[in-house]
Amino acid sequence: MKCGQCGADDTKVIESRDVTDGQAVRRRRACVMCEHRFTTYERVERPQLIVVKNDGTRQLFNRDKLLAGLYRACEKTPISSMQLEQLVNGIEQDLCNCAEGEVSSGKIGEMVMDRLAALNEVAYVRFASVYRRFADIASFEHELNKIRDRKQEVISTN
Ligand SMILES: [Zn+2]
Repeated sequence: MKCGQCGADDTKVIESRDVTDGQAVRRRRACVMCEHRFTTYERVERPQLIVVKNDGTRQLFNRDKLLAGLYRACEKTPISSMQLEQLVNGIEQDLCNCAEGEVSSGKIGEMVMDRLAALNEVAYVRFASVYRRFADIASFEHELNKIRDRKQEVISTN
């Protein structure tokens, strides 16, 4: 595991903890060179899921993409990154349990909103008000990525 700060290859594990019912392990690590501390998550690989978008096209379910979209949607709310991890884990588990191999992206959006509503009202309202303007979770993520790319362009041209 490389240090994100100085790029050194040598990091040590300070603490290991099971999270989300043994499905993931959270590790606190420290860089041996610069003592930078960071957290990693390790989880069990799951079978691949196909997401059917509103326009009928299919793509692989990507938990990192979903998580990244949620991080941006829940910025400046009291929701922690750990809570979002657990939210996405819960969705992933439900999807795997129904075992049909395919799920509509609209269904995933509804699952996200159900869970956000239980977690935090403000985050739910914010997510729902933005999300409902889009046809499904895939176009919502697409839009968030466009916003992010635009921000990066601004930064890089300055
Ligand atoms: Zn380092």
